[in-house]
Amino acid sequence: MRLYNTLTKRKEEFIPVQPGIASIYSCGPTVYYTAHIGNLRAYVCSDILKKTLRLNGFQINDVMNITDVGHLVGDGDAGEDKVEKTAKAQGVTPLAIAQKYTDLFMRDIKRLNITPAQQIVPATHCIDAMINLIKTLEQKGATYRTSDGIYFDASTFPDYFQLSKGNLAGNIGGARVELGEKRNVNDFALWKFVGPNTLQKWDSPWGVGCPGWHIECSAIALQYLPNPFDIHTGGVDHIPIHHTNEIAQTQTATGKPVCHYWFHNEFMTIDGGKMSKSLGNVYTLDDLLLKGYAPLHLRLLILQTTYRSVLNFTFTALDAAREQYLNIVTALTKHRDATTPTEPTVLNQLWQEFTDALNNDLNTPVALAVLHKTLKQPASHDIFKLVTEKFDQVLSLDLATAVARLPEPMAIPDQVKDWAEQRLAAKQRKDWATADQLRGQIASAGYQVTDTAQGYQIKPR
Ligand code: AMP
Ligand code: ZN
Repeated sequence: MRLYNTLTKRKEEFIPVQPGIASIYSCGPTVYYTAHIGNLRAYVCSDILKKTLRLNGFQINDVMNITDVGHLVGDGDAGEDKVEKTAKAQGVTPLAIAQKYTDLFMRDIKRLNITPAQQIVPATHCIDAMINLIKTLEQKGATYRTSDGIYFDASTFPDYFQLSKGNLAGNIGGARVELGEKRNVNDFALWKFVGPNTLQKWDSPWGVGCPGWHIECSAIALQYLPNPFDIHTGGVDHIPIHHTNEIAQTQTATGKPVCHYWFHNEFMTIDGGKMSKSLGNVYTLDDLLLKGYAPLHLRLLILQTTYRSVLNFTFTALDAAREQYLNIVTALTKHRDATTPTEPTVLNQLWQEFTDALNNDLNTPVALAVLHKTLKQPASHDIFKLVTEKFDQVLSLDLATAVARLPEPMAIPDQVKDWAEQRLAAKQRKDWATADQLRGQIASAGYQVTDTAQGYQIKPR
């Protein structure tokens, strides 16, 4: 299995630290808002990664943090804590906010058939581990104190740019920033002192405060996984700051790398641009459900693009994914009910092509192309089993369930079928008014007619 490694900038064969076990750390959500579909893309991508590793016989040992403290508004070292700010605005405790958005996140990943990490660790449960790690960094001479906190001195870590290399777009080092008492733009907070009005705060050897954002991932990974572990996942936005700082902390403290493979998903954009609250184009999974889409339509849309390419979300693309989902399920019904066998060599060849695509840096678009090629085989229950029992282990599109839910073709009333035939005939003679009127009649009877290459398809609405 070959994976692209952001650290080496090439695809590499995956060789785990412990034979047969893949140890994986994923940066989890910051729980002060409902995850948007861009965030969810990150977890679909790591889900495909883990399921492909399982397919290759690896056991998974995975951890994900929940950022319930430390992530400041603006993503830097200044401003209020995101969870705390939301709690104050809503007049509830930070714990209540964190719990609410953690629950919503867990609900959304379940709806997307993402297998949750075995260990899900809120940052606030690991404050001692973070304090101990900061103490180690202090003993190594990598920290300094300012009036507002304890900072990591990036100049003590010469290989600071190993992950971002020359590509510093988005790095605070490239932007105009308020240095304050920081010695260098790349230095970052390990511990921030807080005032009496702050709700989330802990005692520490340096004073009452709360941890910086980056230290949680280093501390949690060191507590739950080997050092180094195998794969660290997250979105590309984390390359220049969050993951760069994680490397600086862990490597300074232990003398060893964080992990061997850095796995980064590209971003999801909307209508060709950034998702942003001010533009009103930030969608949650619930927003899509309210518009009549199913979670697995979004999952299929995400699989249509490789994780390393930008995925531009549009409703036209989501409509096409929904259509494709239905086509897959409809094609599968033909195979479910067939008794003719398929040659084992054909089945093996298709399976080989499917796994080759995934093993080539998780090429899901090619894996989907193999799925469509498979569905075009002569009707056979063996094809049904190959797709629903094997391909769907990774795709996780609930295909067997969806087929079982499809109404039997005979359930469509004769009258509706008759109207659909008349509509086809009207379209063929370019009598659009009659065709539209018949579509309306079909719709009022509770059915939807859609055009296909073969003619049309009728489905319950
Ligand atoms: P956050 O809740 O901001 O910590 O982000 C959770 C995960 O979503 C991180 O791995 C981010 O890198 C990732 N992420 C954030 N925005 C997007 C986006 N638009 N597209 C894909 N991944 C994203
Ligand atoms: Zn992280």
